[in-house]
Amino acid sequence: MKRIFLFLFLLLNGFVLVFGGYFITNYVVRSGDTLYDIARKFHVSVCTVLDWNSTLTPSCLRVNQEILIPQPDGVLYTVKTGDSLYTIAKRFFTTVEDLKVANDLSTNVIRAGSSIFVPVSCIGKAFNKEKSFLWPVYGVFSSPYGWRIHPITHKRSFHTGIDIAAPEGTPVFSSSAGVVTRAGEASGYGLMVEIKSGSTTVRYAHLSKISVYTGQWVEEGFLIGRVGNTGASTGPHLHFEVLFSGKTTNPLSILPPLTEVYALKDTEEGIGGK
Ligand SMILES: [Zn+2]
Repeated sequence: MKRIFLFLFLLLNGFVLVFGGYFITNYVVRSGDTLYDIARKFHVSVCTVLDWNSTLTPSCLRVNQEILIPQPDGVLYTVKTGDSLYTIAKRFFTTVEDLKVANDLSTNVIRAGSSIFVPVSCIGKAFNKEKSFLWPVYGVFSSPYGWRIHPITHKRSFHTGIDIAAPEGTPVFSSSAGVVTRAGEASGYGLMVEIKSGSTTVRYAHLSKISVYTGQWVEEGFLIGRVGNTGASTGPHLHFEVLFSGKTTNPLSILPPLTEVYALKDTEEGIGGK
């Protein structure tokens, strides 16, 4: 019943597109609206609104601007060649069954190029919480912290973080709680999010999309952006960097064991494997 009332409310505030298991409303911004108010009105997170409306920032909101808002709170993933519901479930740290229910799917067959809706309520069920930091993305560990031959300059240089390769559009989650101190273009880092808590700074670089804004408080596990190939990068991956009191440290020292980046937790069907 609550869902029906919400649907009618949405109809009165703009047009609504209905898909299997979810619908999207096109909200028209009114005088006095803030991003926070709009998100609260529709029971979605600000991160969700920014993910659906990638050019939006709190300061660029203007009257009559149209904003896409999903119901329930959730995000889309575009299926790539080679993806299965199983790999997509892993990218969102959730289960195959959750994805099937959310998308009204009766089979496991999905087409490249189609969209899978992932409710925020399902995201993160499989986050590995063995350490104080979460693995921010599901992918392949592709470059360690420390001295290496730079893949672009081919010169010996110090790699200030670790790299995790994943397809463009793979969600990136906040590894820990904190305040967003930077969200935007940062030369070689490309599109980057920087999150600070006390003397700890965490950087997420080479993103294709950012879904947080400077000054925002984020909890661990919030969707902060999507994997990309921006800045000095040779392919889609996340550069994950951690600084203690301004000095970089090896992120592997504060993350759950490396072998568990693929594994997550084997507690639920559809999750697991190394
Ligand atoms: Zn890197």
